[in-house]
Amino acid sequence: MNSYIQSLKDQDKLNISIDLNEKFNWKYFKIAGPCSVEGESIIEIAKQIKECGADALRAGAYKPCTFPITKETNGWKEGMRKEGLELLKEAKKQSGLPIVTEVMDARMIDTVGEVADIFQVGTRNFQNYTLLDALGKQNIPVLLKRGTWGTLDEILGAVERILVGGNKNVAICLRGVVGMPSYRHIFSSTRWAPDLMMIPALKEFTNIPIIYDPSHATGYRNFVTPVSKAALAIGADGLIIEAHPNPVNSISDPDQAIDFNTLKNIFNG
Ligand code: PEP
Ligand code: MN
Repeated sequence: MNSYIQSLKDQDKLNISIDLNEKFNWKYFKIAGPCSVEGESIIEIAKQIKECGADALRAGAYKPCTFPITKETNGWKEGMRKEGLELLKEAKKQSGLPIVTEVMDARMIDTVGEVADIFQVGTRNFQNYTLLDALGKQNIPVLLKRGTWGTLDEILGAVERILVGGNKNVAICLRGVVGMPSYRHIFSSTRWAPDLMMIPALKEFTNIPIIYDPSHATGYRNFVTPVSKAALAIGADGLIIEAHPNPVNSISDPDQAIDFNTLKNIFNG
């Protein structure tokens, strides 16, 4: 073994592990749903997502958008917010699926926590230490999305921040990093590089579950199936996938959403 890695392991510098009995059952954990809550449709979507084999429903009520004003459509601005949470509550009630939804700010933990079964920390908040410290004090599991710039030790450091507060239910979500895919002039929505090798790299140091997000990692729906398979083959513990009844008309992230048939095939493949 590379002696530098061995020395890090010997010094226990990067080892962060959790008591697997304490954690949420993340083994082949399948999360799916639209990028955002778009309206009452989320209730029917939840039922269909469940039929496809999902263990949890994802959908953002609070959406950090790259362009908060420029991309505003029909009054829809950075998510349906409180109304979106109410709809997620109803979707949970009618489908029985747990809810994965983003909390953008420590001050919103109580509000979002009334509905979320798993708090999603978005890429943009990967190193928001106020938020991570506050989530460490919660009893609700956290899905921490890697910042597009995040190194291996920065990922483990961010996880450690949540764990030290006492919250042992943490999973890492890998979702693509800053890079320059050489085909992106052709596939223009492929903004990120998938970085699948971070899965075994993390597993050298930690037993924290790793959920792979092929939707944001690729940005392009035709790549979601092959990259999902690759992520599982290389050791991911689960997937989080954006799926929509009418993918091209998704309000946010329309290029990467897949339909329910494709989703079912991935989950049952
Ligand atoms: C999302 O999951 O919809 C999202 C905004 O992802 P990310 O934080 O990875 O960009
Ligand atoms: Mn999205």
